[in-house]
Order: sequence, then C-alpha cells, then structure tokens
Amino acid sequence: MAKPIQKNCTHLTASHLIKEVTDCLVDIPDHRPNHCKNGIPFGNFAKSAFAMMQMKMPSMLRFDSQREDPVQAHNLETLFDVVNGRVPSDTRMREVLDQLSPHWFQKPYKKIFSRFQRSGHLQKFEFHIGHLKNHYLLAIDGTQTFFSGKLHCDDCCVKNQGKANEAYYHQLMGGCIVHPDQKVVIPLAPEAIVRQDGCTKNDCEKSALKRFLANVKKDHPYLKLIIVLDGLYADGPTIRLIKSYGWHYIIIAKDGNHGSLIEAVDELDKQGKVARCLKTDPVTGIKYWYRFTNDVPLNKSNPVEHVNVLDFVETDKKGDRHTWSWITDIPLTEKTIEALMKGGRCRWHIENQTFNTLKKQDYHLEHNYGHGEQHLATNLAYLTVLAFLVDQLQQLGSPEFQKALKERTRGVRIHLWELMKGYFQTWLIKTWEGLFDAIISRTVAGIVPYDSS
Ligand SMILES: [Zn+2]
Repeated sequence: MAKPIQKNCTHLTASHLIKEVTDCLVDIPDHRPNHCKNGIPFGNFAKSAFAMMQMKMPSMLRFDSQREDPVQAHNLETLFDVVNGRVPSDTRMREVLDQLSPHWFQKPYKKIFSRFQRSGHLQKFEFHIGHLKNHYLLAIDGTQTFFSGKLHCDDCCVKNQGKANEAYYHQLMGGCIVHPDQKVVIPLAPEAIVRQDGCTKNDCEKSALKRFLANVKKDHPYLKLIIVLDGLYADGPTIRLIKSYGWHYIIIAKDGNHGSLIEAVDELDKQGKVARCLKTDPVTGIKYWYRFTNDVPLNKSNPVEHVNVLDFVETDKKGDRHTWSWITDIPLTEKTIEALMKGGRCRWHIENQTFNTLKKQDYHLEHNYGHGEQHLATNLAYLTVLAFLVDQLQQLGSPEFQKALKERTRGVRIHLWELMKGYFQTWLIKTWEGLFDAIISRTVAGIVPYDSS
C-alpha cells in the first residue's frame, strides 16, 4: 500500500500529484447501462488511460498486450489506484472514453494547480515590471495534434470542405505559466479547437482562445496575469477581452499585419516622441537596442484602441541582428523595457518547452492512440498534457525525481522515462517513492536463469 499522504507537504511528488489526478477521474459518472455492476470499475477506464500517458506507452495496443500481466496489474493498482489492476481492453477503453465530455479531463488541472500554489513553488514564477508586482506570465498558442484525409470525429476541424481533398485535423489551444528564468512551464487546462468554432483557421483559434481565457478566469479568479500572445491575436477584440478580465498583455506585432501601427510610430519618431536606448551586456558583449513609445492607435480601423509599442534589436557576437516588436498596455519607460522584452520572449516557452516537448519527448501528442467518433482524440490529448504537467511539477519540486534525473540520466528526461517504464513492466512496485529509490540506488534485477538444454 502507498504511504499515507502528508497534507501539508511542500513537495510536488508523484504520489501526491497522481493522487490528485486519480481522485478527480474517479468522480466521472458511469454512463454504462446498469453501471456494469460486475464489470470493470468505471474509474479504471480513465485511470488506465492516464497511466498509459504517464508511463509514456507508445500505443494503446502495447498497453493492452500486457493487460493480463500480473506485474503491470499490481503496479497499476499501487501507483495509479486502478482497482484490482483490472484494465479494460483497448477497444472497450476507446468506446467508453469517446463518450465522455472533455471537461472531465480538464478538472484535474485546477486541483493540481491548487497543490502547486500551496507548495510555495508558484512564487518562482512571479514577474515584476514597473508598478505591477507579483504578476504571472501566461503564454498561449494553438498547435495541431492530428491530421488525416480519412479519419474524423465530431470534434474534427475540416480543411477543403466539400472538395476531393477534404481533410480533418485537431488543434489544441494551450497556455502555460512561464518565467524568463525558469525552464519548467506550468500548463493550465488546454482547450480543444473544434469544428463548431468557425469557418477559417483564424476564427477557430480566436473562438477557442475566448473559451480558454473564460476557463482561466473561472478556475483562477485571483491570479494576476500578463497574457503573452503571437501576432495573430494583436487586435482590438482580443485586447479588450483580456482587459475585461483585469489582466495585462504583451503581444507580438508583425510588419505585415500592423502597417498603420508602424507608420504611426514612425510619424511620432519624426516628431521626437519616440525614445531610444542602447545597452551592451558587459559579460557577453551582446548589444541590445530599444525603441519605444506609448499611446499609439492600434490601427486605422480602430483609432480608439491605443497601445504602447516596443521595438527590440539584438546584435549577437557574430554581428547577426534579431528583431522583435511587441504591443502592450504596460507603460514603457527605460526602467520597464528590459523586463517587457524578457516577458515577450517567453512566448517561445509555449513552442519550445511545451509543444515541442509534447511532440518529440515521448509524450506522443501527435500520435493516434485512437480517434473515436465523439471526444476520444480530445480526451486523450488532455490526458497527455496532464501527464506533462505532473512531470513538470516533479521537476520543479520533487527531490526524488530531481535526484533520479540528475544522477541516473544526467538531466535527460527521455532516458528517465525509459528507466521508469522498465521498472514498471518488470518489478512489483509498492510506492512511487520506492520506484525512485530503486532508480537512484541502481537496483538491478536478478540473473535470468540460463538453460542450455
Ligand atoms: Zn476528430
């Protein structure tokens, strides 16, 4: 049996975090006729699917092939609270999960975030700029998770509708709490971009963003946020929506989309109303050039909406120039521009540390575990990001996870997943602490008996 959970523990360990998840998943109401009284407990469906993601199983079939294996059954019960280790077949698991509303798989995110707040580790993400203290950067973007010319479901977005080359795809709107000095990111509950969201890719992403932001406000009403977005969202309606929630924003501005804004800045520049600043890093010699001004009309069609504009050029040691522009409602002064630039560049954390990791570091976000007809693909994607959240928090605040990562795999997470999977499939494990102890102390299995006959 697992060790009793310490209520006020400040550590973000696997045993605590996974218990938060499984406690949520067991609340999903059983929709089966007569609740299949003698069948597999209903909670086992979602908990088994989550275990598959947490253990980085490459396919549902691979997971299913070990369904009768007593070692896996034992470990699913002790580590993931799968009652009696009874796992449904891959076909039955797909059928049941397909019918469940995705909101059940968003719920654990809020519970885990509450533990994260109580742990005190959220303070590491505090971002201070000018008069704004104790704010948090929330970087948001959409990413594609599935594409097919054949398979589709009720949630699928459609490309080339009605044409011979009609195709289907899924996208996810993801958002993470990020910080310039933190490698770890903290994903909030993602939001699927679905067919009903609009006709164009733009419409779809913006509709999903509205739902995403509404859910963030509902789940975290007191969190003081600065929303960090790509240039696609640099428009009046998105800015007004963000401000209606009492938040601030830093959004990329691009030449192609914001010609009149750039013209307005150039005009102010001629009038001597634009400030400039050049800084050189005394250690690296890298040069940073800033140009900034406040209170500029966002565009000609929307002269009411005024924004502050920061242009930034970095010249690296090779002499190559890298240019960025952002719009923001945060007042720009010589004291705030550096923090603003660092906050704006955190947008890459959603691309690099989040989506790339989810697609290339054994989380298999783009892998088709099964598509279903209603919500299966969406539900499995939410569970995949949930496993990523659990791992990110362990990396931030679990001493045993940190030690295993450092001492056994030199910080390479994908190698740690392989070690964990190996133990999970071959050893009877009673607790998460025991699993990490075995990994850290390099416990090895006995010698395989050799029979020459
Ligand atoms: Zn679909």
